[in-house]
Amino acid sequence: MNILHISAECYPIAKVGGLADVVGALPKYQKELGTKSSVVMPFYNNKFTQENSFEKIHEGYIALGHKYYNFKVLKLTDHPLGFDLFCIDIPDLIYKNYVYSNDDTERFLAFQIATLDWVLTFKEKPDIIHTHDHHTGLIPFMMLQSFKYETLKAIPTVLTIHNAQYQGWFTHEKVHLIPPFNFDKVGLIDWSGAINSLASAIKCAWNVTTVSPSYMEELKLKANGLEDLLNHESPKCIGILNGIDCNVWSPETDEKLIKNYTTSSVISGKHVHKKWLCEEFHLDIKKPLFVFIGRLVGEKGADLFPEIFEQALIGNNISILLLGSGHKETEEKLTKLPRKNFNTFIGYDEKLAHIMYAGADFLLMPSRVEPCGLNQMYSLRYGTVPVVNAIGGLKDTIIDIEQEGGFGIVHSGVTVEKVTTAIAKATAYYSKKGFLKNLKKIMEIDHSWNNSAKEYVHLYKSLKN
Ligand code: ADP
Repeated sequence: MNILHISAECYPIAKVGGLADVVGALPKYQKELGTKSSVVMPFYNNKFTQENSFEKIHEGYIALGHKYYNFKVLKLTDHPLGFDLFCIDIPDLIYKNYVYSNDDTERFLAFQIATLDWVLTFKEKPDIIHTHDHHTGLIPFMMLQSFKYETLKAIPTVLTIHNAQYQGWFTHEKVHLIPPFNFDKVGLIDWSGAINSLASAIKCAWNVTTVSPSYMEELKLKANGLEDLLNHESPKCIGILNGIDCNVWSPETDEKLIKNYTTSSVISGKHVHKKWLCEEFHLDIKKPLFVFIGRLVGEKGADLFPEIFEQALIGNNISILLLGSGHKETEEKLTKLPRKNFNTFIGYDEKLAHIMYAGADFLLMPSRVEPCGLNQMYSLRYGTVPVVNAIGGLKDTIIDIEQEGGFGIVHSGVTVEKVTTAIAKATAYYSKKGFLKNLKKIMEIDHSWNNSAKEYVHLYKSLKN
């Protein structure tokens, strides 16, 4: 079975968040199950594309409304990923030093059209086209309704929603950018009077998945305006929990770590990284270290961090280190907090993130929305106890220490009080006898892709029958 994943991000080529990690891992694990999975993504101007070699395998031109653009399909040649990776190069539109900005409508439409134009030329068509998030959300509609893609109509499509907050809206004034289609069907791209790429994909894809079962249920109640649609389409919707790529995220082999460690060397292994972090960021190694890694946005509860940290640091008995960027106001407030037992790295740093998963004692995730969340699974793998709000994938993966079989700290709801109470509970747990034993236990929890990749393959097979 031949699967074509189409995505705006793929690790390690271009990563903004969890979407990249999933698209960079799932095809590899699907391949191990006997499917041939490949990825198509835009060709951005970044360090990875500058430093690696690509071979041109196709070229053509697309019409975007009344404008024409040349495009090339480039295949990555010198960086073994475990699957074939193709990039759509449209120099005038896509080759920018960012992934997302305010010109996304034209850029991602051009990307989707060029991808389908290229697929039209395949002698052997893919068995499944798997689209990810709104950036590729018009593909199922175009395959069904755009006259030029008539021959792709019978290929089953799957949409995975990694985040339903962002939906790729644009006005009907731009409808001419979509390759001509039967206008009676314009309702399939519309939601509440605008063109909505994610809503269109939910309507037109043969199957819709979210990245955790709880997130699917939560979206039926709250999905930034798409609740009714998801309830209506619910027979074809399922939640499949993401996995983690243990080739990238394993303390035994992780090349970004200072020293590798296993379950039997977890205490000394974590100590090396905590020491490095505490020296680098002027923190006290004797105190339990809480970290946050991620986007500083409301979904992650980040607007409350300045107040949460201020409160949690009052007793002087913990340290906090934050890595992330996002809302400028939150960044500014965090930068102004006193640097006593507290520090930040405002920005994006993949290596530092790995060292933090290894060196921290606790990982904070007070998310208000968390479709799956990968950070909590990485932290388990590295022997770091997650402190999470019971939402979405966090609810599906973390059990509170007070529950049977529990190993993390779980709070219900995101307020300054609830999060600081959870931090206090974690701090008390840090000095308990069972704390070190728990580290070995959490490292052994299997969140690899093996099971989830099987669920996807099962789903593809059901669509082919
Ligand atoms: P989301 O996709 O909502 O941002 P996920 O938990 O699914 O959240 O995935 C986040 C991924 O991005 C993780 O691999 C995390 O380590 C990484 N990440 C987020 N922010 C940063 C940052 N500032 N520096 C390094 N890695 C980051």
